[in-house]
Amino acid sequence: MDTDATHQAEDLCAFIDASPSPFHAVATASARLEAAGFAEGTPDDGPGPRYLKASGSLLAWNSGPGPSRGFRVLMAHTDSPNLRLTPNPDRSTHGMRQLGIEVYGGALLNSWLDRDLGCSGRLAVRAGDGVGEVLVRIDRPVARIPQLAIHLDRGVNEKGLVLNPHIHLSPVTGLGEAEQGAFLAEVADEAGVSTADVLGFDLMLHDLAPATLAGTGREFVSAPRIDNLLSCHAAVDALCAARGDTGGPTPVVVLYDHEEVGSTSATGAGSPLLRSLLERLLDGASPDLGASLACSVDGAHAIHPNYADRHDAQHVVHLGGGPVLKFNASQRYATDAPGAARVRLAAERCGVPLQSYSHRADLPCGSTVGPITAAVTGLPTVDLGAPQLAMHSARELCASSDPGMLQVLLVELLGT
Ligand code: ZN
Repeated sequence: MDTDATHQAEDLCAFIDASPSPFHAVATASARLEAAGFAEGTPDDGPGPRYLKASGSLLAWNSGPGPSRGFRVLMAHTDSPNLRLTPNPDRSTHGMRQLGIEVYGGALLNSWLDRDLGCSGRLAVRAGDGVGEVLVRIDRPVARIPQLAIHLDRGVNEKGLVLNPHIHLSPVTGLGEAEQGAFLAEVADEAGVSTADVLGFDLMLHDLAPATLAGTGREFVSAPRIDNLLSCHAAVDALCAARGDTGGPTPVVVLYDHEEVGSTSATGAGSPLLRSLLERLLDGASPDLGASLACSVDGAHAIHPNYADRHDAQHVVHLGGGPVLKFNASQRYATDAPGAARVRLAAERCGVPLQSYSHRADLPCGSTVGPITAAVTGLPTVDLGAPQLAMHSARELCASSDPGMLQVLLVELLGT
């Protein structure tokens, strides 16, 4: 594998490890944008490279002088399926302390068993008469969900594992009786704030095993949250690499929270975030839709060697085969013929191979932010992304060569 691709894959691992929650993903992306010369601000602050944080979502753009006309928008999402703490999480059963959790998004539940789990997220804390926010992460194995021994579940390998999320996914955190508020006190201590000042929290569990290159030739990235931090990483990188003020379409990146739970929220893809940014950049002018293109960048299903029959034989996508254009007639993906043609031209220009994906017609297809933002903004939109395996597992897999190819294509799409 060439050194550029290895560098990009290793850099992706660092990005993922720095981002156990959507709030951390926004902080990681912001730090990278700052290092590339972007300043926190709004369109009212004038032209130039800027970014704006909105809870677990982030907008970044690089506008020239005068109103923008066309836009090149890259969209990805900061959230991944995981386990989140309930408001009163402390409980104890048979002398063991446990946490109440809620499953966030379409998680593969079995993948959370027998893992050392840390905790991360944000605390809303008293700040004078108002409320401030503190990011927190505990990277010690404070929680674990032990699987039931096979001797107590003899048929599990034949019948499959059935997990009730309310009963079977409650992690153990220690021995003894739990006092309500004890776990939050632990988190507050880690964050360096007084428990009495914590007025609210959004906390979640994360796998503590670091992201790594894997395989005999390091051909894979083995990591949590590849869906969709891989795309966040590539989009931010592409925006930092893209030239601003070319007189062409304004490059924009949006990283959305809440994709995994349907995008209907104040900061999700169904929110006015992107539309109001574009309106402010247009400053009353009409958008040039012909020059504009929005790309929803999200994971694509590579063929699984042990389950090849789950894929349409005419649309087999390979790990390491390059970015994937995703098609769905029912608009679960937003790609249409003119959009696909523009991406194919861009891929030709930058020498990146392109694959095409269509879900089996007898299986329900997943979706992305693409169709939602297309409906909100009216921009021509395509769905594309890097191939991966084990989507929505606590630990996913992609090829080490794909993140770099995706990044090259995104730079081309932003700049042309
Ligand atoms: Zn996704």
